[in-house]
Amino acid sequence: MTCIFCEIVNKNIPSNIVYETDDVLAFEDISPQAPVHILIIPKKHIANVLEIESNDGKLLEYLLEAIRVLVAKFDLNERGFRVVTNTGDEGGQTVHHLHFHLLGGRPLSWPPG
Ligand code: 5GP
Ligand code: ZN
Repeated sequence: MTCIFCEIVNKNIPSNIVYETDDVLAFEDISPQAPVHILIIPKKHIANVLEIESNDGKLLEYLLEAIRVLVAKFDLNERGFRVVTNTGDEGGQTVHHLHFHLLGGRPLSWPPG
Protein backbone atom coordinates (compact mmCIF):
# COMPACT_ATOMS: atom_id res chain seq x y z
CA MET A 1 0.00 0.00 0.00
CA THR A 2 1.40 3.39 -0.90
CA CYS A 3 1.85 5.95 1.82
CA ILE A 4 1.14 9.61 0.97
CA PHE A 5 3.86 10.89 3.23
CA CYS A 6 6.46 8.46 1.84
CA GLU A 7 5.49 9.80 -1.58
CA ILE A 8 6.04 13.34 -0.30
CA VAL A 9 9.44 12.30 1.10
CA ASN A 10 10.32 10.83 -2.31
CA LYS A 11 9.07 14.05 -3.98
CA ASN A 12 6.57 12.08 -6.06
CA ILE A 13 3.86 14.24 -4.52
CA PRO A 14 4.67 17.95 -4.34
CA SER A 15 4.55 19.81 -1.02
CA ASN A 16 5.69 23.13 0.37
CA ILE A 17 8.79 22.00 2.22
CA VAL A 18 9.90 24.25 5.07
CA TYR A 19 12.66 22.10 6.62
CA GLU A 20 14.67 19.15 5.39
CA THR A 21 17.59 17.07 6.64
CA ASP A 22 18.78 13.54 5.83
CA ASP A 23 16.28 12.11 8.34
CA VAL A 24 13.48 14.63 8.76
CA LEU A 25 11.09 16.51 6.48
CA ALA A 26 8.63 19.27 7.36
CA PHE A 27 6.02 20.71 5.01
CA GLU A 28 2.87 22.80 5.12
CA ASP A 29 -0.36 20.95 5.82
CA ILE A 30 -2.57 20.90 2.72
CA SER A 31 -5.59 21.87 4.83
CA PRO A 32 -4.25 24.33 7.39
CA GLN A 33 -6.16 24.63 10.68
CA ALA A 34 -4.17 27.64 11.89
CA PRO A 35 -2.02 30.38 10.28
CA VAL A 36 0.98 28.12 10.92
CA HIS A 37 0.26 24.43 10.33
CA ILE A 38 3.34 22.36 9.57
CA LEU A 39 3.74 18.59 9.52
CA ILE A 40 7.06 17.25 10.79
CA ILE A 41 7.84 13.67 9.83
CA PRO A 42 10.68 11.15 9.89
CA LYS A 43 11.72 10.27 6.34
CA LYS A 44 11.64 6.59 7.23
CA HIS A 45 8.18 5.09 7.46
CA ILE A 46 6.98 4.68 11.06
CA ALA A 47 3.22 4.17 11.32
CA ASN A 48 2.59 6.06 14.56
CA VAL A 49 4.07 7.06 17.89
CA LEU A 50 3.65 3.51 19.25
CA GLU A 51 5.84 2.11 16.48
CA ILE A 52 8.90 4.15 17.49
CA GLU A 53 11.61 1.71 18.52
CA SER A 54 14.25 1.99 21.21
CA ASN A 55 16.98 2.56 18.63
CA ASP A 56 15.07 5.55 17.19
CA GLY A 57 16.36 7.82 19.96
CA LYS A 58 18.54 9.87 17.62
CA LEU A 59 15.65 10.28 15.21
CA LEU A 60 13.43 11.62 18.01
CA GLU A 61 16.14 14.13 18.83
CA TYR A 62 16.18 15.22 15.18
CA LEU A 63 12.39 15.59 15.15
CA LEU A 64 12.52 17.76 18.26
CA GLU A 65 15.33 19.79 16.71
CA ALA A 66 13.10 20.37 13.65
CA ILE A 67 10.30 21.58 15.93
CA ARG A 68 12.65 24.03 17.67
CA VAL A 69 13.97 25.39 14.36
CA LEU A 70 10.47 25.77 12.90
CA VAL A 71 9.08 27.46 16.03
CA ALA A 72 11.85 30.04 15.67
CA LYS A 73 11.40 30.30 11.90
CA PHE A 74 7.69 31.06 12.26
CA ASP A 75 8.22 33.38 15.23
CA LEU A 76 6.22 31.32 17.68
CA ASN A 77 8.64 31.22 20.63
CA GLU A 78 6.96 34.07 22.48
CA ARG A 79 3.41 33.54 21.24
CA GLY A 80 3.20 29.83 21.97
CA PHE A 81 2.10 26.95 19.79
CA ARG A 82 0.90 23.35 19.93
CA VAL A 83 2.53 20.09 18.83
CA VAL A 84 0.13 17.18 18.31
CA THR A 85 0.44 13.62 17.07
CA ASN A 86 -2.94 12.04 16.45
CA THR A 87 -2.90 8.26 16.88
CA GLY A 88 -5.40 5.62 15.83
CA ASP A 89 -9.07 6.00 14.98
CA GLU A 90 -10.30 7.82 18.06
CA GLY A 91 -7.16 9.95 18.04
CA GLY A 92 -8.15 11.16 14.57
CA GLN A 93 -5.14 9.82 12.67
CA THR A 94 -5.85 9.79 8.93
CA VAL A 95 -2.33 9.31 7.55
CA HIS A 96 -0.50 6.32 8.96
CA HIS A 97 3.02 7.71 8.78
CA LEU A 98 4.18 9.32 12.04
CA HIS A 99 3.77 13.09 11.96
CA PHE A 100 3.77 15.93 14.42
CA HIS A 101 1.43 18.82 13.70
CA LEU A 102 2.93 22.19 14.61
CA LEU A 103 0.04 24.63 15.02
CA GLY A 104 0.30 28.30 15.86
CA GLY A 105 -0.41 31.88 14.94
CA ARG A 106 -3.78 32.08 16.70
CA PRO A 107 -5.11 31.25 20.17
CA LEU A 108 -5.75 27.49 20.35
CA SER A 109 -8.63 26.34 22.51
CA TRP A 110 -8.46 23.45 24.98
CA PRO A 111 -9.65 20.73 25.17
CA PRO A 112 -9.51 19.83 21.48
CA GLY A 113 -12.67 18.35 19.95
P1 5GP B 1 -3.85 13.27 10.79
O1 5GP B 1 -5.32 13.43 10.49
O2 5GP B 1 -3.35 11.91 10.42
O3 5GP B 1 -3.46 13.68 12.19
O4 5GP B 1 -3.11 14.35 9.89
C1 5GP B 1 -2.91 14.17 8.53
C2 5GP B 1 -2.73 15.55 7.97
O5 5GP B 1 -2.16 15.43 6.68
C3 5GP B 1 -4.03 16.34 7.81
O6 5GP B 1 -3.95 17.53 8.56
C4 5GP B 1 -4.12 16.58 6.31
O7 5GP B 1 -4.63 17.85 5.99
C5 5GP B 1 -2.70 16.41 5.85
N1 5GP B 1 -2.54 15.90 4.49
C6 5GP B 1 -3.20 14.83 3.94
N2 5GP B 1 -2.79 14.64 2.69
C7 5GP B 1 -1.85 15.59 2.43
C8 5GP B 1 -1.05 15.89 1.28
O8 5GP B 1 -1.13 15.24 0.24
N3 5GP B 1 -0.20 16.95 1.39
C9 5GP B 1 -0.10 17.69 2.54
N4 5GP B 1 0.78 18.72 2.53
N5 5GP B 1 -0.82 17.42 3.63
C10 5GP B 1 -1.69 16.38 3.58
ZN1 ZN C 1 5.11 6.44 4.92
